Amino acid sequence: MKRKLAENWKRITERVGDACHRVGRDPTDVTIVAVTKSVTPNVIRTLIEMGIHDLGENRVQQLTKRAAMVNEWFKRRSLDSSSVPPPRPVWHMIGHLQRNKVAAVLPWVRLVHSVDSLRLAEEIDSQAGKLKTTMRVLLEVDAADEPSKYGVAVAATTHLGEQIASLPHIELCGLMAMAPLTSDESRIRFTFERVKDLFDEIVSEGSCGDSFRMLSLGMSNDFEYGIEAGATYIRIGSALFEGIELAPEPAYSD
Ligand SMILES: *Cc1c(COP(=O)(O)O)cnc(C)c1O
Repeated sequence: MKRKLAENWKRITERVGDACHRVGRDPTDVTIVAVTKSVTPNVIRTLIEMGIHDLGENRVQQLTKRAAMVNEWFKRRSLDSSSVPPPRPVWHMIGHLQRNKVAAVLPWVRLVHSVDSLRLAEEIDSQAGKLKTTMRVLLEVDAADEPSKYGVAVAATTHLGEQIASLPHIELCGLMAMAPLTSDESRIRFTFERVKDLFDEIVSEGSCGDSFRMLSLGMSNDFEYGIEAGATYIRIGSALFEGIELAPEPAYSD
C-alpha cells in the first residue's frame, strides 16, 4: 500500500509541476490537501509517515475523530525516542459546516474552506474568541453556471467578504469553489476563471485585508484547470487513493 501511495503522490506532484510550468507558476505555491474521507486510519497513518502535511475531511464527526486519533499516535510516538517522528499534519475542513458543529470542529482545524454565510462566520468568530484564537477561513463561492447547494452568489461575495474580514477572531484567507458536475472542460475552466477574476478584484480593492491570498480550486478530475486558474490549494482524494483499499462508508452523516 505504501508503495502505491508513494507512486500516486509522485504522479500527482509531477502533474502539479507540469500545470504550474504551463502558466509560469512556482509549484511551491500550490498545496495539495490530501482528502482522506474515503480511506482507513491505516492509510492516513502512512500518509503522515510519508511526510504529507495537509489533510482534509468534509464531515465534522469524521474529522474530529481522526484528528484525535492522529494526536494519540504522536503522543505515543513521543514516548518512543528511537525514531524521529514525521511532521505533525494539519487538518482542513472542506465540506459544508453547520453552525451547531462549529464548536466541535474548531479546535482541530487549521483552515475552514467552506464558509458561505455571515451567520456561520459569526458563529466561528464567537467560538474562536472563546478559544482565544483566530480562525482562518475561505469564503465558498457558487460560481458554477448551474444552481448548487452551497456557496455565496458571485454578486454577493465582495460585500460578504468585507463583513467576514472585519470579524475580530476570523482571518479571511481567500476563496474556495467547486466546479460544476460535468466533464466539460470549458465549463469547468469558465467557473474557475470566474472565481479568479473575483479574487483578483477583491485583492486589488484591498477590502478583505492582507491575508486574502488563497484560492482553493480543483479536485482529482480538474486540479490542473484549478492550478492554471491560480489555485493555491487543490483538494485531492480519489486520484491519490487509486488502487488503495477504501474504508467502509461511515455510519453517520453530518
Ligand atoms: C471529496 C472532496 C474532494 C476530493 O474529491 P476527489 O474527486 O476524490 O479528489 C474535494 N473537495 C471536497 C469539498 C470534497 O468533498
